[in-house]
This record gives sequence, C-alpha cells and structure tokens, in this order.
Amino acid sequence: MSEQELRLSRQVYRLRIFGLGLGFLCIAAVFYQRDATLLAWTVLAAHGFVWPHVAWYHARTSADPHVAERINLVVDSMMGGIFVALMQFTLLPSVLIVAMLSMDKLGWGWRFLGRTSGAMAATCLVTTVLTGASFRLDTSMPVIVASIPLMVAYPFAVAFVSERSGRMARERKKAVEQTAVLREQLAHIARVGTLGEMAAGLAHELNQPLTAIHLEAQTALEFRPAGVPEDVLDSLSRIGEQSIRAGDIVRRMRTFARRGQARREAIAISPLIQEVLALLDHDLRLNGVETILHLRDDLPPVFVDRIEIEQVMVNLIRNAIEAMGSAATPVRQLTIATEPMPRDVRVTVTDTGGGIAPTILARLFHPFQTTKSAGLGLGLSICQSLVEANGGRVSAGPHPPGGATFFFELPLVRAANA
Ligand code: ADP
Repeated sequence: MSEQELRLSRQVYRLRIFGLGLGFLCIAAVFYQRDATLLAWTVLAAHGFVWPHVAWYHARTSADPHVAERINLVVDSMMGGIFVALMQFTLLPSVLIVAMLSMDKLGWGWRFLGRTSGAMAATCLVTTVLTGASFRLDTSMPVIVASIPLMVAYPFAVAFVSERSGRMARERKKAVEQTAVLREQLAHIARVGTLGEMAAGLAHELNQPLTAIHLEAQTALEFRPAGVPEDVLDSLSRIGEQSIRAGDIVRRMRTFARRGQARREAIAISPLIQEVLALLDHDLRLNGVETILHLRDDLPPVFVDRIEIEQVMVNLIRNAIEAMGSAATPVRQLTIATEPMPRDVRVTVTDTGGGIAPTILARLFHPFQTTKSAGLGLGLSICQSLVEANGGRVSAGPHPPGGATFFFELPLVRAANA
C-alpha cells in the first residue's frame, strides 16, 4: 500500500471509529431501554471493538486495498441492517444510522450504494424474521439525548465527505489532463527518437558517397592532365576538403547518436567542448550567436563518459540559444569557460538571454518544468542525472546584467580513481 493510500485509509478508519462510537452510544441507549437480549449486546460489542480492528488489519494486509475497503463497507452496511432490526426499528436512531451508512458509500457510485443498501435491507429482514418481527418505532427521551451527538456529527460528516469527494474529483480531473499532456510528450519523444535513428542511418549511408567524392577528387588532382586550368584544380581540391568536412560532420552525428552502455574514460574536456560546438555550429550561426571561449588547454583529464557529457553540453547550449532567441536582447553572446578546481574541472556556460524565470527557479532541475510552449522540461533534469552519474554536480544562477549561467563540475581522473 502506498504512503498516500495508507494515510487515506487511516483517516477513513478514524472517521469510521468515530461514527461507530456515536452509533454505539445511541444503539446502547435503545438496548438498555428495551432490555435487549445478551445476544444483541454481544453483537453490539463485537461490532464496536472487534470489527474495526479486523477491518483495519484486512485493509492493511490485503493485496488490493480498494477491494478490501469495499468489502469492509458492505459488511458495515450489513451490520447496520442487523442493528435496525435489533432496535425494533426505533425511529430516530434507525433513520440516523441508515443515513450515515448510505453517506459513507456516496463516493463509490450509485451502483455500489444500491448494492450496500440491498445488503443492509437483506440483513435487516433476516434479523427481523429471526427475532420474531417486533416493531416499536417510538423514541424515548433518553434515546433522543443519546442520539444528539450522532445528529450533530451527521452534517459535519456530510460536509467532510462532500469536500473529500470534490477534492478527489478535481485531482482525478487534473491527473487525467496531465496524463494526456504526458502522452503527447511521449509521442513526441518517440518521434524524435525515430528521427534520431533515421539520421544515424542517413549518416551511415552518406559516409560512402562522401568518401568516394573525396577519393575521386584526389585521383583527379593526382592525375593532373596537361592543359587543365588552375581554377579547375583549385575547385577539385576544395571539393576534396569540403567532402572531408562533410564526413566529419557525419561522423560526429553518428557518434552522438550512438546508444550503448555508459563507459567512463580519461577525457580532455576542452576538445570535447570544441566537438560539441562544431556539431551545433549551424544552429549558432543561424541564430546569430557569438561564441566566446575561455577553454584552458592545460587542464588535467576528467573521468567521464564522453557521449553523456556531450549531451549535457548540447542541452545547455541549445537552451542558451533558445533563451537568447526569445529574449529581446540585441547582444547574443554564448560564453563557455573551463577552469581547474582542486578536485575537479568546472565548465561554465553563460548566455545573454532573458534569464531563468523566477517561477521555475526553485524546481529548475525537476522533470517537466518548462516555460516553453513546445518544451518538454526534460533537458535540465537529464543534464543533472548525467552529470551526477559521472560523479559531478550541476547548478545554475543568474548572469548579471541579464542572462543565465549554468555550471557543472566533473571529477579528475585521479580524484575519481581515489
Ligand atoms: P525545455 O527546454 O524543454 O523547457 P529544460 O529542462 O531544458 O526543458 O529547461 C527547463 C526550463 O528551464 C526552460 O523551459 C526554461 O524556462 C529554463 N531554462 C533553461 N535554460 C535556460 C537559459 N539558458 N536561460 C533561461 N532559462 C532557461
């Protein structure tokens, strides 16, 4: 049973004990007045003391608490029917008890209410027959006094149940809406994943023609028939160079799309960042972003999974590009710096966008936190889990006068080994 279910059933259990106590009082008053039989007193005692414990134990140990709760409610109604008959249908307590027991079932739907009311009527009928069908509807003064707590409790119980069921209905509606949003987002992720796989396939296919173009250009250059103008030779050598460049882009895409077991190794962080920037070069240029790099070449290697850290960098840079794209700032500067720390290396990604929205600042790295209409809100939470899986930490803050700074630290090889 989940913590929330346990809390709820504890609340319901307490409420039921309370109702049972009050009901117990007014039934006992009737029994006392009517000199009830020992059997009637025994049934009342068993219901008042034994039944709540059995019900509670049943709800806790049962595999499906929902079913257990329904069984408890049915048994409760059946006991109510028995008491109405044992009280010889004394009017006031009978009406109160039936009303209380019906209210208990409202949240479970009309069919369940019908079923429990049927069970109550059946046990009432059987007990009436067994006890010789005696009816004394009149209510004496002591019984009225004993019923007062139940009468007072009834409106409160109705209010509580309505509030509860209202809240549950609202929560259910919200959960349904959230599920629909999540379903859409998952479908989007699945589509993006398929696209990624298609892109990896495409990259594989492109590799061969690119290599062929390069080789052909090289061969033509080496062949160099007499009389070919210099311009043609220049063009051939540019074709060769550009096909190598295209091949590099394709290789990076394939490596980035690689899926597999995380493998940590000693890696120089600054060249890794350069690789990522090459991968995002097109996006950066398209959005008019100026890149300022403070990458130190003398840093000791870090001990991380290359692809995972590349993904972190891609997410942070893409967020920065989007933040600067949507902000009305004319300056679009992305600054990336690496610096040594005593036990790790710190990477800082700073932008001149609109800064982090205060509404999500406290839960920035939680999943599904987004301020973008088409955003998933997963990027930063993935960044956090990847950095932490590699033994590092990530944090964020404002970048005065405007923009955001994200930084993360990665362990050095010797620190990770120690
Ligand atoms: P998504 O980009 O899909 O919204 P993320 O987890 O990557 O998901 O980001 C969550 C939210 O954090 C974004 O919607 C945005 O509000 C905020 N955020 C992330 N990076 C930046 C940034 N560089 N500047 C300002 N806000 C940012």
